[in-house]
Amino acid sequence: MIPPPKFNKSKVLTRVQVLFSLAVILPITVAAFFSYFQIKNSLSEQAHQRLHLASKYHANILIEHLITTESLLTSLEPFSEIDRDHLTSRQKDLKSRTVVIATTNSLGAPQTIFGREKTLGNIDHLTADTYVTSNKKSTITQFANNGDLLLTVETAHNQKLTALLSKANLFGETEDHLLNNDFCVFEASVPLFCTPSLKGELANLQSLDDGSGYSGKLSWRSDDLQYFATARDLFIRSNFNGSSWTVVSAEDAETVFAPIRVFRWLFPAVVALSVLCLLLFVFSQTRRQLTPLSILTKGAATLGQGKFETRIALDTEDEFGELAVTFNGMADRLEAQFKFLIAMSEIDALLLSSTDIAEIMGLIAKRMPELVSTDVAAIFVTDPDDSRRGKMYCSGPNETGVRVFLSRNLEDLLPNTDLGREHYSVDKLDYIPEFATGLVKREEELNLLPLYFEERLLGCLCLANHGAPTLPSSILDQASSVADRLTVALSAIQRQRRLYEQAHYDSLTGLANRNLFLDRLEQYIVQASRKSAKVALVYLDLNQFKQINDTLGHSQGDEVLRQAAQRFRGAIRESDTIARLSGDEFAFALPDLPKVNGAVKVAETLINELKTSFQVMGQNFTLGASIGIAIYPDDGISAEQLLGNADVAMYRAKAEQGSRYRFFEESMNQELMERSSIGQRLHESVENNQLHLVYQPKVKAACATIHSAEALLRWHDDELGWVSPEKFISIAEDTGIIDKIGEFVLDSACNQFAQWQAQGLPISQIAVNVSPRQILYTDIVKTVADTLDRYDLPGEYLELEITESLLISDCELTHSILKELQQLGVRLALDDFGTGYSSLSYLHQLPFDTLKIDKSFVDNLGTSADADAIVESIIALAKSLDKTIVAEGIEHEEQNQFLVSRGCQLLQGYLYSKPLAAEKMTSVLKERRPLPIPEPA
Ligand code: C2E
Ligand code: MG
Ligand code: MG
Repeated sequence: MIPPPKFNKSKVLTRVQVLFSLAVILPITVAAFFSYFQIKNSLSEQAHQRLHLASKYHANILIEHLITTESLLTSLEPFSEIDRDHLTSRQKDLKSRTVVIATTNSLGAPQTIFGREKTLGNIDHLTADTYVTSNKKSTITQFANNGDLLLTVETAHNQKLTALLSKANLFGETEDHLLNNDFCVFEASVPLFCTPSLKGELANLQSLDDGSGYSGKLSWRSDDLQYFATARDLFIRSNFNGSSWTVVSAEDAETVFAPIRVFRWLFPAVVALSVLCLLLFVFSQTRRQLTPLSILTKGAATLGQGKFETRIALDTEDEFGELAVTFNGMADRLEAQFKFLIAMSEIDALLLSSTDIAEIMGLIAKRMPELVSTDVAAIFVTDPDDSRRGKMYCSGPNETGVRVFLSRNLEDLLPNTDLGREHYSVDKLDYIPEFATGLVKREEELNLLPLYFEERLLGCLCLANHGAPTLPSSILDQASSVADRLTVALSAIQRQRRLYEQAHYDSLTGLANRNLFLDRLEQYIVQASRKSAKVALVYLDLNQFKQINDTLGHSQGDEVLRQAAQRFRGAIRESDTIARLSGDEFAFALPDLPKVNGAVKVAETLINELKTSFQVMGQNFTLGASIGIAIYPDDGISAEQLLGNADVAMYRAKAEQGSRYRFFEESMNQELMERSSIGQRLHESVENNQLHLVYQPKVKAACATIHSAEALLRWHDDELGWVSPEKFISIAEDTGIIDKIGEFVLDSACNQFAQWQAQGLPISQIAVNVSPRQILYTDIVKTVADTLDRYDLPGEYLELEITESLLISDCELTHSILKELQQLGVRLALDDFGTGYSSLSYLHQLPFDTLKIDKSFVDNLGTSADADAIVESIIALAKSLDKTIVAEGIEHEEQNQFLVSRGCQLLQGYLYSKPLAAEKMTSVLKERRPLPIPEPA
């Protein structure tokens, strides 16, 4: 979030004030000061002009005074006494102007005419010659250089008069001066007169004289007081002999600037007052502007903090008012955009956190009207598995919630677009698609935004505004953003779903795969451990499924698996889990099992389900299954352990032939390990030719001579010793090595029989045991044919003993193989008859020539009425079916008697002979006697 701007109102205020004040005050002050100095200059200029005039005036007065005095002196009568009682007015005037008037008498001695003689005593050395020059001008000199002035004139009577001028009269008293200004009169630098005020400034004045006298404007400063002065020459020489005088008129600054004395204190006061007023004005103006500015600033700051509901209330009709309106408009748009972005980010978060389409679409549909400001909003989502189906997630005044939609026609969803795929509206479509009817009541415009991904229609976003013919483009833009997200979400969810299904489900049957099964099983185990309940794991393997694949082809095999899976699914509870683990292996996890018996019921149901015939490619057949059951917690506490043990139990069931189920027992594991080590040893022994055959004769009931012999396999291992064929044959079948062993047995037996034949010994047939695996999974027909060929034996010399369990699967394949073998002339015997579940009803259809009554029945003959009855009926059945009947395992004479008396044709058992080594059998044959042949004593 953008941090709010840090405004300091007071700082802004001060800055504005100072700047504004400076802008106004500075020019005013500068102008005022400029004017002030202008006035001062002008005043000082005026003062100089005034002083100049004053000097001129004083000079004129002085000249005039001197000329008048001169005139008065020259008009004096010769040697007249002035000091008399009656004086003329002129004499009186002269008397006031002079202190002493003297002349030189005819003897040349000075003679006082007026004033005190002694005063002139000092001037008696002056001679008229000195003062009167040839140009006849009067002379003005200083007396004794003390500033007193002597005026020497020559009267009309050629008398020379020297007068000591009265300074007081000449320069006048201050009050006599018409001009009220101070002045000094100098002869060179000697002051002749100074007004009293200027006397104190004489030293300063004299310091201005550089020897050339005073002239023009003068100025000096004394005691912080400025003095202005103007010097003017008094041209004494124009009328008199003598040195020039200078009149210096002066005024001090106080006097000069007297007119602006008031202004000097008034000016700062006025300026200060103006500044104050100005500041007050600026302050009030600034405040007037800062208040709305502060409101705007506050509003902007609040908006900047993300409070988009902020609005500014400013009703002024100035720029601030306009700014507030603009701000509020901007806040409106920001608020809408922000809400939209928040909603979009919530949608994004939802999309990331959930893959539940219903949850996502329901929530988005709910928020859509607010998000894009429409009255009606709905999201239509097509079913990924069936594009005719879909679900509508609606939100609006007329309808809210989820509506399932099924189109009869795919075209109903949306037309194959000529209109572009971004946006449809009803006016362009001319009709409302079926799924959208009901969203709007009136014919207002319905806007549809199709959600296409890779040419596939995933769904559609439907928007409508009551009474609004078209949605504004801004809303359509926002709706497009939502539509884009929905498209991405739907495609991602579908892809995720596909990936999940690939990872967790079997693609062929749609059942759970091993991973999901183990997951569920773990969950069941956890739940069961809390409730101390049991969980059963049923492991099912189809019997002889490979044979189906080999004969009908894999695609038909797949079809069988699909059908079987469907049957299994219907046979278990909803809460159970069923999985296909591999090829023909299925597993069932049954949680909350009240009794172990429940698992038995399930196993039996599953076996029964397979007994109903399957129909593939016009062929009908049933299937068998071997089932192992393991129970939690008795047989394992983990899913893997249970699965492994159920597998072991299943193998045990399989070993027992037929459709069987077996519960797991701990001994099975030991047996499994033992079988595994036997399997490895057997493999080596086969490779090393350590197996051989023995032969057990079958005798004719009538005469007890040898009719044929059954080849029986023997294996002696260096470590294990003698291992019974009952043990290692089933292991050889499991590991597949039975194929090789079978070929060896067939070859050896035929070879031996051919030798006996060649020797002309009395034996008409050799019987070889063939395991069901050899029949179903190897090309037994070709192997037999080749072997017979190899030893040039007709087929009827060979009898194949096939155990009854082979028939359990009751497959047409078995039937056809047996038929082919029979066509080779080979005889077929149903071994261990009575132990399996073969249906007597179709025994006659099977191409067996011989039924071999199992030893277990023979054992009980004479001791069990049931056994007697069974054997009797088997013999009767065989006779009725025209099959040869053989009894095996006859050990006692009673058994023998019973069988012979009931019509059993061939007899086999220890009573006659144990299985014999080939050489021994040869020698017994050579005896050509009935059996048993007594042992030599
Ligand atoms: P089977 O084919 O039913 O063979 C008869 C078994 O009963 C033989 O045991 C035989 O020795 C035994 N037997 C016969 N008469 C008597 C008797 O009076 N008393 C007793 N106690 N036993 C008697 P064996 O040789 O141990 O064979 C067991 C089974 O192993 C055979 O049962 C057969 O199913 C299988 N087998 C033996 N050799 C082969 C073979 O080469 N190939 C195949 N596929 N299976 C074989
Ligand atoms: Mg046999
Ligand atoms: Mg047998």
